[in-house]
Amino acid sequence: MLSTATPQDGVLAGLYIDGHWQRGDATLQVINPATEEALATVAGGDAAAVEQAVAAASAAFPAWGRGSGAERGACLRRIAAGVEARRERLIELQSRNNGKPLSESAIDVDDVIATFNYYAELAEALDAQQDSAVALPSADFAARLRREPCGVVGLIVPWNFPMVTTAWKLAPALAAGCCVVLKPSEVTPLAELELADIIAASGLPSGVFNLVCGTGLAVGAPLAGHPGVAKLSFTGSNAVGVQVMQRAAETVKGVSLELGGKSSLLVFEDADLDLAVELACGGGFFNAGQMCSATSRVLVAEELAEDFLARLKARVEAIRVGDPFEAGVEMGSLVNQAQYQRVCRHIAQGLQDGARLLSGGERPAGLPRGYFLRPTLFTEVPLDSALWREEIFGPVLCVRRFASEEEAIALANDSEFGLVASLVSRDAARAERVANALQAGTVWVNAPQVIFPQAAWGGYKRSSIGRELGPWGLSAFQELKHVIRAL
Ligand code: NAD
Repeated sequence: MLSTATPQDGVLAGLYIDGHWQRGDATLQVINPATEEALATVAGGDAAAVEQAVAAASAAFPAWGRGSGAERGACLRRIAAGVEARRERLIELQSRNNGKPLSESAIDVDDVIATFNYYAELAEALDAQQDSAVALPSADFAARLRREPCGVVGLIVPWNFPMVTTAWKLAPALAAGCCVVLKPSEVTPLAELELADIIAASGLPSGVFNLVCGTGLAVGAPLAGHPGVAKLSFTGSNAVGVQVMQRAAETVKGVSLELGGKSSLLVFEDADLDLAVELACGGGFFNAGQMCSATSRVLVAEELAEDFLARLKARVEAIRVGDPFEAGVEMGSLVNQAQYQRVCRHIAQGLQDGARLLSGGERPAGLPRGYFLRPTLFTEVPLDSALWREEIFGPVLCVRRFASEEEAIALANDSEFGLVASLVSRDAARAERVANALQAGTVWVNAPQVIFPQAAWGGYKRSSIGRELGPWGLSAFQELKHVIRAL
């Protein structure tokens, strides 16, 4: 039972507004996707709850926004410590709600701790950096630039990395001095409810952080359109990202968008094959492939292709799929029935379009319940098929061969997305050259998908607007004021 639940009926309060837990009228059923059993009922909100939350955040903003960075940093450190203290519980909650193995949930929770600690440092440094002199080509004027928090911000996050996508927005927003209204995904609100409980215990002033659970239409849309919200930061699908941007445009508010991807792993003829196979599996099947950064296209040099495919097939078929709580399980379930059916439709369509199924494509034997799929491998995927061009968001890898470095780059860049790319090569000069030519926000060279809070996150083309993490994540929540004085 979560600390926000009323013991009598087990219904979780889905609103945390102005320092108080409340129940909204909307009923959200949360399931365990590995068992298909009900996990919790959350009493979420609607436009009226958004109204209340924005009002609370607006009232808290003058004091929080003008306070010192050192104070805000101390709050962020207490939140990080609170997450650390409840690490095991958060790992368990996330695996139960998302269906991902405990080892993956542990990576998520550790990332959340690192992100809050990192932005605590940036907040503490802000006091000395808030004003900076501007060199002017005139002795008649003096100028300074001042960084100020942009106000009340709306944060809308998806279900695939619930706590992580929240931390990447929440920590820099609070560090900058913004007050926040957070809307978690209605599919996976449990981790954020626990996080809100940690924040409630951290001594953050009332109204600085508010949480409204609910559906996209009931809560997300009114938040995106609210005139009291200065900035909207959204992570999710492209279709919804466009709607959020349209709603935000009505009140000319800034948006940061982290959207979909269709990224490639490039395996060159001088690659370490074992490493290439491991990176292909990590990029394709971590979180059951439900990753914006999934390298769902694998491009392999034709000299290596036979050997690589044989090894990849053997490795893929050895991946243990099953109960996220069982030791040794490498891949859990998909997040819900809708996502499971969506991925199955993509697999069926890929077969119709002429792609060759090398492995998987069906429910694993011995797992009759839960949204489990075998890791799936396609080759000879037509370039114009949905399987090749669209984000599948499931455990499906598509492999194609290339004849030259130029062709590999062209194939990887031939996408409307540009979030990430990975490459495997022993030739350092080539690796740098190819990394420079790829249209992607992050390129991993001979490396798994490691992400540090200090580095930028975001993509080219339709994958993103803006960057999260690093100092860019902080400046996304700041306004720049130019003060100029006649001497
Ligand atoms: P989604 O777009 O369906 O939902 C995301 C959030 O938006 C949810 O909280 C949802 O309730 C809300 N929402 C839905 N309709 C809305 C509306 N009309 N107005 C405002 N809010 C609305 O995405 P999802 O299925 O939860 O997540 C998967 C998607 O997220 C994938 O496309 C994935 O690539 C993307 N993603 C991107 C990144 C990144 O960093 N680029 C990271 C994680 C996930």
